[in-house]
Amino acid sequence: MPKDFLQGAKSHYDVIVIGSGLGGLTAANVLAREGRSVLLLEQHYKLGGLATWFKRPGGHLFDISLHGFPHGMIKSCRRYWTNEIADSIIQLHGVRFDNPMFSLTTTFDRNDFTKLLVERFGVEGTTVKAFFDTARGMNFYDDQTMTTGELFQKFFPGREDVVRLLMEPITYANGSTLEDPAITYGIVFSNFMAKGVFTFQGGTDQLVKSMQQEMERNGVDIRINSLVDKVNVAGGRVKSVSVNGREITTDAVVSNGNLKGTIFQLVGADKFDRDFVEQANAVRLNNSSTQVYMALKPGETIDRDTGDLLFCSTAPLFRTDLLLSRHITSRTFSFYYPGIRPAGKPRYLIVSSTNANYDDWAHLSPEEYELSKQDLIEDTLNHLEKYVPNCRERLDHVEAATPLTFEHYTRHVAGSSFGTKFEGLAVSRALPEQIAGLYHAGSCGIIMSGWLGTINYGVIVANDVLNYLSKAAPLPTPATLSP
Ligand SMILES: Cc1cc2nc3c(=O)[nH]c(=O)nc-3n(C[C@H](O)[C@H](O)[C@H](O)COP(=O)(O)OP(=O)(O)OC[C@H]3O[C@@H](n4cnc5c(N)ncnc54)[C@H](O)[C@@H]3O)c2cc1C
Repeated sequence: MPKDFLQGAKSHYDVIVIGSGLGGLTAANVLAREGRSVLLLEQHYKLGGLATWFKRPGGHLFDISLHGFPHGMIKSCRRYWTNEIADSIIQLHGVRFDNPMFSLTTTFDRNDFTKLLVERFGVEGTTVKAFFDTARGMNFYDDQTMTTGELFQKFFPGREDVVRLLMEPITYANGSTLEDPAITYGIVFSNFMAKGVFTFQGGTDQLVKSMQQEMERNGVDIRINSLVDKVNVAGGRVKSVSVNGREITTDAVVSNGNLKGTIFQLVGADKFDRDFVEQANAVRLNNSSTQVYMALKPGETIDRDTGDLLFCSTAPLFRTDLLLSRHITSRTFSFYYPGIRPAGKPRYLIVSSTNANYDDWAHLSPEEYELSKQDLIEDTLNHLEKYVPNCRERLDHVEAATPLTFEHYTRHVAGSSFGTKFEGLAVSRALPEQIAGLYHAGSCGIIMSGWLGTINYGVIVANDVLNYLSKAAPLPTPATLSP
């Protein structure tokens, strides 16, 4: 008989969280900490969503999306998770750029970028300051008509090299382009510039393990291998979810899955207003990714000066479409040294990441797909040779992931790496106005994606749910509790 992953689950919870990405995990933890009964349902056999990892023979452990996040993670993890998690966040010092316009190493913070822009790129100090102040001052309630391209044009007209320095890493960090609203750039760029780029010492496996322990302490009922088929609605409010052949009732649902998947697959378009459905239909998904995972043979090392993050490109100019093209000219190499997992085997790993279009991979025959993956690997190794000489002979393991891989493991529509474009945020926020008790806390709107964005969005949405429940399903006060 197949294992019952819902064995012992109750018939009703205050809140059901669908999906265990960082947004779902954080929402579940905050809600449980406030005394709510929470069921967390994850369809995969592991928690973490895109914040995940995998092992390969030889003691190699690869992280998928642990390349770098802003300093703000420390505060968010300390407040909404644990001191232990917050204290494991460390800075990456070696961020490198190598392209036909410039090669440089930076700590990727405002001081160093100011120095580079003034001394190396010859921009006026006052212009640099005004640019940083403008980017820092942007917030969600601002005018959203200015695009990132227009922002750059205002401060650095005709300076394609400056635009490349300022934009290329952010395009990798959240898929945003020069055509997206400037606010999506300003918020994320300023978050990084506050203090630089950070990572989690111990690796994603340790982070998710610590999060699981904390959720268990707070009483979250965590279930893996539990695919939610349907969110059931009655009388304009959330009633239950259908999962693994069971129906479990609830007062509120937080979907951490893809926004479009939540609306059109889990709930169904017929449950929403026509205008809302039109608005949701018009939401554009963000791009997907390809990755190549490479492990050096035991005993082989990488020189520490190679850096932690390397934004490299052979394209003469920075162009968004080139960053997405199947004919890859730009990639980010992440170098993982043994220090990232001090307790693990001393292994040196490299992950190459590239933004990608789902359609370039989705319609290939199985043979074409395998060939395309092999081509991706060969091309990546050719480029890596420049930074890790003789890498081919020194490698123990290499494999590739494509947009189909991300779609398969997370059920993100079109394997989207960063949720939706900006307009998705308003749709995500409007869900509870359509159906009482229905919420979405997953990457969307560009600013609510990435590790920090999704954790913060999980907190925001958990607070909305707490407010709603305080009226719809108040917690018993001590006076009403039976002795
Ligand atoms: C290649 C790559 C590299 C990245 N690098 C970085 C980086 O360096 N720094 C950074 O900050 N961000 C990075 N990101 C982005 C970051 O990983 C994501 O924005 C973030 O992890 C998404 O979190 P989320 O809460 O939206 O949930 P997701 O991680 O998208 O998880 C959603 C979860 O919901 C589950 N689910 C979906 N449908 C159902 C269902 N019906 N029933 C049950 N469960 C369901 C899925 O299985 C999944 O576990 C990267 C992303 C990719 C793809």
